Amino acid sequence: MLFINGSWMPAQSGHTFSSTDPATGEVLGVVADAGRADAVRALEAAQAAFGEWSRKTGHERSAVLYRAWELMLERQEELAKLMSREQGKPLRMARTEVRYAADFLLWFAEEAKRVYGETIPSARADQRFLVMRQPVGVASAITPWNYPISMLTRKIAPALAAGCTIVVKPAEQTPLCAIETIRVLDDAGVPSGVVNLVPSSDPVEVGDELVTNEVVRKVSFTGSTEVGRIIASRAAHGMKRVSMELGGHAPFIVFDDADPVRAAKGAAALKSLNSGQACICENRVFVHRSIAREFTEVLVERMGRMKSGHGLSDGVSIGPLIDLAAIDKMQRHVDDAVAKGAICAVGGKRLKGEEYDDGYFWAPTVLTGVGPDMLIYREETFGPIVPVIEFDDADDVVAMANDTTYGLAAYVYTQNLGRALRTAEALDFGMIGINDINPTSAAVPFGGVKQSGLGREGAREGLLEYLDTKVCGISMEAV
Ligand code: NAD
Repeated sequence: MLFINGSWMPAQSGHTFSSTDPATGEVLGVVADAGRADAVRALEAAQAAFGEWSRKTGHERSAVLYRAWELMLERQEELAKLMSREQGKPLRMARTEVRYAADFLLWFAEEAKRVYGETIPSARADQRFLVMRQPVGVASAITPWNYPISMLTRKIAPALAAGCTIVVKPAEQTPLCAIETIRVLDDAGVPSGVVNLVPSSDPVEVGDELVTNEVVRKVSFTGSTEVGRIIASRAAHGMKRVSMELGGHAPFIVFDDADPVRAAKGAAALKSLNSGQACICENRVFVHRSIAREFTEVLVERMGRMKSGHGLSDGVSIGPLIDLAAIDKMQRHVDDAVAKGAICAVGGKRLKGEEYDDGYFWAPTVLTGVGPDMLIYREETFGPIVPVIEFDDADDVVAMANDTTYGLAAYVYTQNLGRALRTAEALDFGMIGINDINPTSAAVPFGGVKQSGLGREGAREGLLEYLDTKVCGISMEAV
């Protein structure tokens, strides 16, 4: 169903599409398939609701978001199970994602009360400047399948806190998770028209309306750099504000003074995040030659013993990939690397057998001897393959890490604090983990530089993305 102006409804065309389990191919549900006319209707509803919602106090908006946070946590288990089935991630990780999604509701419930302005001294004695922050207006959001609940709340919560209304188009692979997320907000008392949902099997038509319709003042997109580029250029015609959370190609640097065992455990755990389908997963591991053997042994052992299977099965840490195109990409990256001299130390193939035949399972893989001429050195893999590159000169490794058009997350392992900070400062990336694989939280700004994106989500900065700045110059002369 679509959710427009506070009601669940079919698409105007009457069309539907189905959502399937990537581990089994089972159809999980059938949902309304929005077209351009539905997107227009949803935007009109958001426009109509904007006035009243934006005039509510921050405290009133906060109370609704706070209730949504409570409800999402109450529904954690059912949401996590749905996510495991629809998107494929192991249940333990799905629970973590639901809590992460709820964190944004709580964080922005709190921030809604802190939309502070400023006063600025004037050069004129008789004048004062007052700076106000006001909601930008109707926002639209286009979200990916890999984090099918948290990528919605990361956009909806700050939009609502700021006083904006919003229309969301979720990824076509995960509409059911989006529907249940919106149900939480509806049950929490979000007024009609403030949040609207238009799942669609045709992202181009609905997406384009959400990006170009003149009522939209702000477009927030999470997904691939390729699609982000199209959306940003379309939005530019209407001079709309954009936030772009795009692809990553994270370097993971292990210096010679790092603990190779701890670093290898970190690299394996980071690659298992959402079965390698996370924008912050490492995709180039640079390890100093002097500790490469010990590091690689532990990494191979850890990756080799990861159990693949349905996200709801016990002990599984790697679920299915999202579709056949993802399997094809794994094959292409492995074949290309091996043909150019890399060694496949573990994995390297699609998993076969009764448990796997109906899904898209790729064996956790480690490639050693990877070099700059290989595809995997250049492209985001988005699956459970760790490419290992040995380096000799610490002075060169930052340049190697920066040698990419991406700039989202990067990781540094060293026991030398000065080296860690110098390296963090020199890396052209938006988020740096120092001896740590999770530099994220609702409380910190998430986002990238270069072709990994524009703007930030989460933290105070995430709220500013939905606020315009207005200045008043006030004469003190008696009138
Ligand atoms: P995608 O770009 O294919 O799709 C993302 C969304 O865009 C989906 O809702 C899709 O339906 C829509 N879309 C596709 N074509 C469109 C078009 N022409 N016009 C409008 N909308 C369109 O990405 P994906 O495969 O769903 O997600 C994986 C990508 O997302 C990876 O590159 C990953 O790194 C990135 N990602 C980034 C972040 C981040 O915060 N930086 C977080 C998660 C995922």
